[in-house]
This record gives sequence, structure tokens and C-alpha cells, in this order.
Amino acid sequence: MKPFAKKLLAWYEKNKRALPWRQTRDPYRIWLAEILLQQTRVETALPYYTKFLARFPDVFALAHAPLDAVLKTWEGAGYYARARNSHRAAQELVEQYRGAFPKEIREIRKLPGIGRYTAGAIASIAFDADEPAVDGNVTRVLCRYFGIRDDPKANATQERLWAIAADLLPHGHAREFNQALMELGALICVPKNPRCAACPLRKNCFARADGLQNILPVKRAKQKLPHKIIAAGVICKRGKILIQQRLNQGLLGGLWEFPGGKVEAGESLTECVARECREELGIAARVGEKIISVDHAFSHFSITLHAFHCEYISGRIKLASAQKYKWVAVDELAQYAFPAANTKIIAALQRHPLPRKATLPARGARAKINTTRAAPKNSR
Ligand code: SF4
Repeated sequence: MKPFAKKLLAWYEKNKRALPWRQTRDPYRIWLAEILLQQTRVETALPYYTKFLARFPDVFALAHAPLDAVLKTWEGAGYYARARNSHRAAQELVEQYRGAFPKEIREIRKLPGIGRYTAGAIASIAFDADEPAVDGNVTRVLCRYFGIRDDPKANATQERLWAIAADLLPHGHAREFNQALMELGALICVPKNPRCAACPLRKNCFARADGLQNILPVKRAKQKLPHKIIAAGVICKRGKILIQQRLNQGLLGGLWEFPGGKVEAGESLTECVARECREELGIAARVGEKIISVDHAFSHFSITLHAFHCEYISGRIKLASAQKYKWVAVDELAQYAFPAANTKIIAALQRHPLPRKATLPARGARAKINTTRAAPKNSR
């Protein structure tokens, strides 16, 4: 065993956190943890891990559950493609492997939502396979330790990092080694001001010797995220509210929402809501008072979502870019999975009861119904 691995494993044995997915060899639980930990911090992932396992204790429970129930349990964790892919992967595991996880890394990688890192993590942590697993934490540690100055996201650098991780891996200890490297990145070799004095690798670390800890790994210049203004209507008819379910593909696929869309150039917020009602639902609605404005950031853009009370006027609903709609009471909204920005609208609705009539009718709200079908949108 190389001194790097020896020191790291000794440190890990003394310092590792007692996380629930470290107390098991069940590949289902390890897989779930790895999926949740993609894009999510440990502290945030923990309650979702517990909640998800309570609802879907094994792969059969997950495979046989309706997607709606999976999304509802995932609600708030974000990056909903993870939930949809996990659901599909569970179904494939049941259909093709009788519910047993494959041990061969090539087979694991074929499952929906499982990339190179997740496959390496499952193979090593659940099955002790001698497979490396390079995530963001591992990338940071290796770039600093070996003084790698190339863009860590470039393919060539990634290949190099995976080769280094494979070379350092002590035969038969991949489960502990991979987790130790990730843990060092999470606790000691943190993004800003790493705690080098407490690091077991400090003696031979390139970045520490040259004072480059806050320079490596090199960062790409941050691009300003585009910002979108969205207007949505809480459309009311006889005390019930209209909600629609997004198509299963794409951003927030399968989640429920209040109908709306991106505000076009020269258009007011209320005009946008009225237009979306016509184009996306085929109905006319009177747009009333604003309920709330919500700011939300996605990975590649941010939004401000303005929600308005609306009163249904006329028209038969024909969905243009959603798969389903329902009229529900305010206290039934909790049964459906909504994106984070929409849950703030629901909280505001619960604080303020629905008005009997929408006030402040918007210009154009009574315009002739236009049932032209727009292209499906993924603007939210
Ligand atoms: S010595 Fe510092 S920079 Fe080097 S690996 Fe350890 S924590 Fe990271």
C-alpha cells in the first residue's frame, strides 16, 4: 500500500462521520445516498435519505410506486431528473435483475441516472470492487496534492485524475479508500482555506508547499446566469384552483405547477398571465391581485416568478404543453409535488384565503380565446 493510502486510511478510521449509508452494504441504500449526494450537501441530503427509505424501503417498493409518489417524496430536494431516473432504474433492476443490483461496473453504468462516478462509488462501496470514484471533493484533493494546474473539468484532466485515483487505490480497500478521499475533501481539503495543519497528506502536498491551496484547482471564469421573468396564475373556479402537471421530460418534469410562462418583450405581468391562459390552456381568465413574487435559482439560470389570483371566465381546457390538469381545493395542494418556487405560492395561499372574485382585471383578459398550440416550454 502506498504511503498516500496508508496515511489517508488511518486518518479516515479516526475521523469519519457516522453517516447512515456508511453503516450498510445494501447497494440500494448506497445507490440512493450517492444519487442524493449529487449536487446536494450531506446535511441537506440526510433528511431526504431517511424520508425516501421510509417510503420506499427497497428497490421493489420504488419500482412499483407511481412516479407522482416518488416526486412527492423527493419534493424540495431539487434536480428532479434524479428522482425520475431512479424510478426508471428501479424498474429496470426489478425487470432485468429480479431486484438485485448488478456487481459488474459496466452493467451498473447502463442504469438510468448512473454515470462514471456513481457507478464507481456503488461498485467499490457496496461490492468492494477495485474501482476508483472521482467526484468534486476527490478532484480538489488530487489537484492540490499533485499540483495539477489544468482545468479540472476538461476531459483530458478528468482522465488524468481517474488514472491517478486508480493508481493510488490499494487493492482490496476501495470501499474505505474512496470514501476516505471524499471525506478528506469534505472535512479538511475544503474549497476555501483548507485545514492543511490537520491534513494527513500535508507532508508531500504540492499546493501546501507552494501556497497554492486557494488557487488550485483552477476555476473557470464564472458566467453570469440568464434571468427570466415568469408570471403564473392561480386560476380559481367555484373555490377550486387549477393545477397542471408538466411533461415527464425536461426540467422539473412530472411536477405540478400553476400555469404560466415567460413574460415576453413589451408585455406586462398580467398580460402574460392572460396570454398563457389562452395559449397554454385555451381558456379566458380575469387576472387579479398579485399573491407573491418569488426568486429562485436553477443551475443554469435564475427566475423571478410573479403569481396572480385569477378568475376563470370561459373556455374548455385544452392543454398545450402539460400532461394533466386538476381542479383542487387549497388544502389538497399538499398531496401533489410542486417545484420550490410554487411551494412558496402555496404557502402564501394558505396564509391568505382565496378572494371571491379576482380584482383589477388585466387589459386583454377578455380577449377572444386563441386555441393555437404553442411549442412545449421548459422555461420554469
Ligand atoms: S495539505 Fe492542504 S491542500 Fe494539501 S491535500 Fe491536505 S488540506 Fe488539501
